[in-house]
Amino acid sequence: MSSELTSATAIARDVAAGSRTAVSVAEEFLARIAESDGEIHAFNTVMTDEALAQATAVDEAAAAGQDVGPLAGVPIALKDNMCTRGVRTTCSSKMLENWVPPYDAAVVEKLRAAGAVAVGKTNLDEFAMGSSTENSAFGPTRNPLDPSRVPGGSSGGSAAAVAAGFSAVSLGSDTGGSIRQPAALCGLVGVKPTYGAVSRYGLVAFASSLDQIGPFSRDVADAAAVFDVIAGHDGRDSTSIPEELPSMSDAVATSMADGIDGLRVGLVTELSGRGLDAFEPEVVTAGAAAADALAAAGAKVDEVSIPTAVAGLSAYYMIAPAEASSNLARYDGVRYGLRETGPNTASMMAASRTAGFGDEVKRRIMLGTYALSAGYYDAFYGKAQRIRTLMIQEFDQVYADFDVLISPTSPCVAFEFGAKADPLTMYYNDVCTIPSNLTGHPAMSVPFGLGAHGMPIGVQIMAPAMGEADMFRAAVALQAAAPQAGPETGASS
Ligand code: GLN
Repeated sequence: MSSELTSATAIARDVAAGSRTAVSVAEEFLARIAESDGEIHAFNTVMTDEALAQATAVDEAAAAGQDVGPLAGVPIALKDNMCTRGVRTTCSSKMLENWVPPYDAAVVEKLRAAGAVAVGKTNLDEFAMGSSTENSAFGPTRNPLDPSRVPGGSSGGSAAAVAAGFSAVSLGSDTGGSIRQPAALCGLVGVKPTYGAVSRYGLVAFASSLDQIGPFSRDVADAAAVFDVIAGHDGRDSTSIPEELPSMSDAVATSMADGIDGLRVGLVTELSGRGLDAFEPEVVTAGAAAADALAAAGAKVDEVSIPTAVAGLSAYYMIAPAEASSNLARYDGVRYGLRETGPNTASMMAASRTAGFGDEVKRRIMLGTYALSAGYYDAFYGKAQRIRTLMIQEFDQVYADFDVLISPTSPCVAFEFGAKADPLTMYYNDVCTIPSNLTGHPAMSVPFGLGAHGMPIGVQIMAPAMGEADMFRAAVALQAAAPQAGPETGASS
């Protein structure tokens, strides 16, 4: 599959110029979905009729000489925890299996206004809790590069959709790594923006102080194009940042033209994986090789120690379940979704929650409720919050001397189904990605060569709050230096 046919920027350019129609592009992608999604299961819901209607509207606007927007005719897949008016939004949970939102998420409104064409809602770990998409109530998603392996998670369906050529780009949500880790495992670019840079209005909440929406794409320029459309202030999200970010597409163009001379890059010792058995050796090597590649491209590269970074995993697995236990209290058989019967209200609610939630979601609710309970609050939740504060201080100090930091994205490449059945082994996948969620800083994953079993490795670039422009600049250099440009798709070539 030629990249010109699937690149979002190329599609938008061609549709605006009239050399391709949005309908013909939508038909091509929908045909690949019809052919191969039975095996991959990237989607919970394919929006065939809606996509063709939206593409027709784009073509009509183009024919009338109207501005069709920066993503005209670009097929995009949406993680199924983003509200879509009239299209069910399940969070891959039995609890919301038939829930149809009465409104669109802010990002969905923005994408539509930019001319993008939503082709479907993608599978995820139930309520975004997981790192493999095996926790979906509707069955797992397969990695298009090797269907015996997971695509990562929790946004595994969104990653698989792009890797299989079912959409040019997609959106995921990232609470502890759920965009960056599946991007790494599927050989894609994945971006978690600064907390507050993208509106969470209409994103079903998991852990509200950590959740952010961001793009998946085949290359850095496409990620920048989507980022520019979805970023920006929104009064309906109280955590939305009023300041405007610069254009990431401009940052990408500048980096392509001028390089990264003088960019200060730090390889984070504690996240490098060196000396840690849980990291695959190829992954550790790729992190170091990425540092060397950035130095060769003109960056000033040093190693830097951030001692609290390793405590992120423990702090996250207190804070995220605590927030989840509160956010998921609304699914009680009354206000939303599934309702079982019972002799009184309390037993009806208990029966609804017992039937509606899967094991991992129940585990998080119980952990979080325990961490917040009187007598334990200070020892668990309070301590985790203090670690979070220390971590923010340490990262801020380090960013006085560095523009961006790097590490591997994930300790391992895509693994086989069932390989990480023990929850703690699964949680360890997030060791490198979690710090940026706890600090609220932006971070992204860029493909950087292949590791064990020929599966892709991702390198993570982190930046201080609102530091996305430098992050994208570094990403361009990393992409240019990557040992392998990107994966060929298994499902659709
Ligand atoms: N894997 C992490 C978890 O299970 C992160 C999930 C996410 O970012 N949504 O919580």
